Amino acid sequence: MKTIVLGAGIVGVTSAYYLAKAGHDVVVVDRQGEAAGETSHANAGLIAPGHSFTWNSPRAPKLLLQSIWRDDLAYRFHFSLDPRFWIWGLKFLRACSAESARANTLVKLRLCRFSQQKLEEIAAEEGLRYSQFKKGLLFFYRDPAHFEQGVKNMTLMKEHGHTVEVVDAKRAVEIEPALAPIEGKLAGAVYCPTDGSGDCRAFAVQLTETCKRLGVEFRFDTAIRGLETKGGRVSAVSTDKGPVTGDAYVLSLGSFSSIIARSAGLEVPVYPVKGFSLTLPIDPALTPSVGGVDEGSLVAYCGMGDRLRMTATADFSGYDNSHKPADFDSMLAVARELFPKGVDFSKPQYWSCLRPMTPDGPPIVGRAPLENLWLNTGQGHMGWTMSAGSSRILADLLLGRKLEHPAEALGLERYASAGRGNGRRAEAA
Ligand SMILES: Cc1cc2nc3c(=O)[nH]c(=O)nc-3n(C[C@H](O)[C@H](O)[C@H](O)COP(=O)(O)OP(=O)(O)OC[C@H]3O[C@@H](n4cnc5c(N)ncnc54)[C@H](O)[C@@H]3O)c2cc1C
Repeated sequence: MKTIVLGAGIVGVTSAYYLAKAGHDVVVVDRQGEAAGETSHANAGLIAPGHSFTWNSPRAPKLLLQSIWRDDLAYRFHFSLDPRFWIWGLKFLRACSAESARANTLVKLRLCRFSQQKLEEIAAEEGLRYSQFKKGLLFFYRDPAHFEQGVKNMTLMKEHGHTVEVVDAKRAVEIEPALAPIEGKLAGAVYCPTDGSGDCRAFAVQLTETCKRLGVEFRFDTAIRGLETKGGRVSAVSTDKGPVTGDAYVLSLGSFSSIIARSAGLEVPVYPVKGFSLTLPIDPALTPSVGGVDEGSLVAYCGMGDRLRMTATADFSGYDNSHKPADFDSMLAVARELFPKGVDFSKPQYWSCLRPMTPDGPPIVGRAPLENLWLNTGQGHMGWTMSAGSSRILADLLLGRKLEHPAEALGLERYASAGRGNGRRAEAA
């Protein structure tokens, strides 16, 4: 059986890995020159089941509206004429009730926990080294009322088996001494000791080498133009280097999945939300080993050996992934405040990329209405954390194996507009 995986981001590479392990002939196609060349390149690195809340909530519409006239570090909303954005936005709003947000957060939490386990299994089995830290993550607050709300929200995680500790400023600094400069400003923190961090790009690049040893062929520098279909099946992937054909096709193109799916008449509601990423050299002796999120500014950070990675902002500006130095000013200010020592601010590396967001939170994993097309996309703001788990589920579905993790809540059929039936379903183990 020959499977074509579209996309060599973290989701495509982990999909290729599981399929190759099961004996498939696998070809991976990507327009970049190496794996993880786009969104998986420089994310915040957090492996964070404790942060698996959906962006949907009863408060979200108001927050997004406010961002239109505020120059907000966390959210930026640009008015768009793109009808796909408004269709996505209506679906987003429909999923903002407290009940939907709770249900979808739990789907994400379970998937994140499963996925963390799978990531660690792959890393151990294949000997991957990716600046991994397994000392937990700290989600810290400066404002007492915000802290109280954060603690309340975390009850959901706790009730569903995630280890959560509520800590005061002193204890937060004991856990991560690098936070000492802001101890006096902290209202408190939530500590998730089983969360962790690591370099997603390093993981993907090394796993690509493992895949090659397993016989996977990578066709880099190859731009996909669309899907060719015949008789309700995909017959080929059309690329700038000619058609690529197989028996099955896995769509893992991040935010671009929806564009390529449309060439086959399929609506996949994944829309881009841009984020900004800053990497700074840091004295390895001062690197934080417990990453986290500054919940006030929503700046996420972690240490990666001799580098400090920080990311911020949900910028709704369509497929524009450009950036300018001014986009990083607020993040640099947070970096100077949190890590005044040991960081070389003269050599910042700037990056921006597109989170592939579904309107309700969980990714889309499963069969598409086309017989031999499979979807593994829309992991959104948690795609590093959810990649291995999503890809394991995808591989189990495609291979007709018993599922280790339920897939029902992840199918495309949950969106009414997809409504064309979505192939077989496998029973959860
Ligand atoms: C600022 C920021 C911070 C984040 N922080 C975290 C975090 O801390 N923890 C976490 O779990 N997640 C985080 N994420 C989310 C995570 O990075 C993404 O969900 C994940 O990288 C998506 O992986 P992917 O493989 O789906 O997409 P991508 O990595 O974008 O891969 C898609 C691939 O498809 C290729 N492609 C697209 N179109 C075409 C085409 N037409 N032809 C050929 N190839 C094509 C691209 O080149 C790319 O390699 C963050 C995201 C951002 C933006």
